[in-house]
Amino acid sequence: MRVVVLRLGHRPERDKRITTHVGLVARAFGSQEMILAGRDERLVEGLEDVALRWGGDFQVRSVSSWKAEARSWKEAGGRIVHLTMYGTPLSESMEEIRRSDPLMVVVGAEKVPPEIYEMADWNVGVGNQPHSEVAALAVFLDRLFLGRELEMDFGGRIEVVPSPRYKTVIERRKEDEAEG
Ligand code: SAM
Repeated sequence: MRVVVLRLGHRPERDKRITTHVGLVARAFGSQEMILAGRDERLVEGLEDVALRWGGDFQVRSVSSWKAEARSWKEAGGRIVHLTMYGTPLSESMEEIRRSDPLMVVVGAEKVPPEIYEMADWNVGVGNQPHSEVAALAVFLDRLFLGRELEMDFGGRIEVVPSPRYKTVIERRKEDEAEG
């Protein structure tokens, strides 16, 4: 299933860390792309660097018009779910959402433009308490993929060897990858 995350409302001077975390969660929890509404080259480069070292095929790109992006997504047959504390319960629409491929998941920052409520096929609440786009996205993706995303093999240059007590990491050299 193709899932892209659209991050609205990024303010480069305030949201670097939280938008980076949106990107990290998007990648680690099974989405293939984050689209950033607005520009922040360093943030994009930082996430690309993570993807390069830790594997997988996660992409990040900036767009100047989120509306144009969402419109063309829908024109191409994609569906949109907007995560908001004002939305309907996750469990009510999850089965239908799971059948909707490709899927765009929209998360906001401080405020979201009102049009997104109209453009979205679903406005979904991960509970109806205010919390965070990072938490909302993680819970949503985990429910969407039924937890299986946590077993994905990213095939990265860096890989953690799970351990009950120690930090064990394998780091392959670039040259080793080139040699196969
Ligand atoms: N007024 C916002 C709202 O509509 O959810 C809360 C702003 S919150 C700081 C930033 C983002 O976190 C929101 O745009 C939304 O994507 C996400 N978020 C926060 N709480 C959520 C919840 N209970 N369910 C779903 N998404 C939530």
